Amino acid sequence: MATSISGVEAAGKTWLGHPRGLFLLFFAEMWERFSYYGMRAILIFYLTKHFLFGEDRAYLLYGAYTSLVYITPVIGGYLADRFLGPRKAVLVGGVFIAIGHFLIAITEGPGGQDSFFLNGFYLALASIIVGTGFLKANISVLVGELYSRNDPRRDPAFSIFYMGINMGGMLGPIICGLLGELYGWSWGFGAAGVGMLLGLVMFVWLKPWLMGRGEPPAPVQLRTPVAAGLSQEWLIYLGAVLGVVAIWLVIRYAELLGYALIAFAALTVLYIVWRTASTLGKVDRDRMFAALFLIALNPLFWGLFEQTGSSLNIFTDRNVDRNILGWEVPASMFQSVNSFFIIMLAPLFALLWTMLDKRRLEPSSPAKFGVGLILCGVGFLVLVAGAAMAGEDLTPVLFVFLIYLFHTMAELCFSPVGLSAMTRLSVPSMVGLVMGTWFLATAAGNFIAGLIARATGSGDAAGVSQVLDVYSRIGWFSIVVGGLVLLVAPYVKRMMHLDLIATEDKP
Ligand code: GLN
Repeated sequence: MATSISGVEAAGKTWLGHPRGLFLLFFAEMWERFSYYGMRAILIFYLTKHFLFGEDRAYLLYGAYTSLVYITPVIGGYLADRFLGPRKAVLVGGVFIAIGHFLIAITEGPGGQDSFFLNGFYLALASIIVGTGFLKANISVLVGELYSRNDPRRDPAFSIFYMGINMGGMLGPIICGLLGELYGWSWGFGAAGVGMLLGLVMFVWLKPWLMGRGEPPAPVQLRTPVAAGLSQEWLIYLGAVLGVVAIWLVIRYAELLGYALIAFAALTVLYIVWRTASTLGKVDRDRMFAALFLIALNPLFWGLFEQTGSSLNIFTDRNVDRNILGWEVPASMFQSVNSFFIIMLAPLFALLWTMLDKRRLEPSSPAKFGVGLILCGVGFLVLVAGAAMAGEDLTPVLFVFLIYLFHTMAELCFSPVGLSAMTRLSVPSMVGLVMGTWFLATAAGNFIAGLIARATGSGDAAGVSQVLDVYSRIGWFSIVVGGLVLLVAPYVKRMMHLDLIATEDKP
């Protein structure tokens, strides 16, 4: 497994008490997220202002893209568990993602609905979708592999890693948003590609820091030719290229995606339940079901939260007074506010959990999820109240900051907690698949988000009240569901058998 003895020894060094591999993954994921969120910040405007999509179709396509990037990680997770191991999967994923961003940059063309260049754009989206499938779940699995399951540094490691995600999430929209909206779309998308390339270079260069973790489970088998002189590994890569072509063909029929998504999600969950029920003992089985409970809350949370890049982005563009110190701030730049707050608040939340833990009051993962849903709902209600107070005038920008503040607190109760819980609750042989399913549920959330965004209509003056009406309904809904989750949290916690994890040692 290990690269070389001296390499391992050197890599065994720690920084801030954590293996150096954590920081490699921090930066690699930072650059990947830089490219993802940078591109996404200008995507809805690129669709409506450059390719001249109507709002309805633009939201649908946006929803299809942002859900597809989270569907493919199930396949990527499975392939890594069985064949590639997470390290190779992350590497190949980064290559596809970088190619995708550069492809958007070079296929800008003259724009409009009849543009031939739309084909290149769809192909680029398909490449990013496949690449994210290989990368996203597996890079989190790699973080988990640096620690044993009862290592107390595990949760803090995920908090640090989450900071990396959000450093990228903050810088991406600022740089790609500025370049894309003010200088030209290609510049924004090209910058996203450069970011991913930097991440790849670091990932290859600093490989020894991973201390041989995340390698293929059966390396010899992976290299052995199986068909047409191609090894298992190369067959997988060939399959990925075919996957790009398939997605390229279907992405234009975004409507179909919802059904396909539901069918695929149902099959995946059934497969996990079947494997869990037929192969695992009571404790592992309970834990897997607890993981599935947490996963089941994802579609709702992200469905609401992910108004960010679509309806909230357009609301900010049209209905908010974006003048700050005399400068009309481009709407896409507000996409980085959430990540900025994460970076500010994540250490405070880590401190809060530790303080509560000392008093034996730290909420369980399911309880944190309940609180997250409540905070998410409150965020919407605050924006609605602000817009109502402004009446006919543009909504003061303060309320955009406030909704992002509440949503960030919600996210901190939800997302890093969930990532850590997945790697802790899953049995090792299914960890990639379970992490993939976590993102698959996020995909459902993104698709629902697209539908909600369509329901907001967020159009002309009359449309504003429609947006606010939808926001206030989903706000209340989220608060009620969050309350119910808090009620059942103690039962789910019992199924996690945390007392036993302390005595199990698993690298
Ligand atoms: N912002 C986090 C990330 O990009 C979580 C996204 C998600 O799970 N939908 O990784």
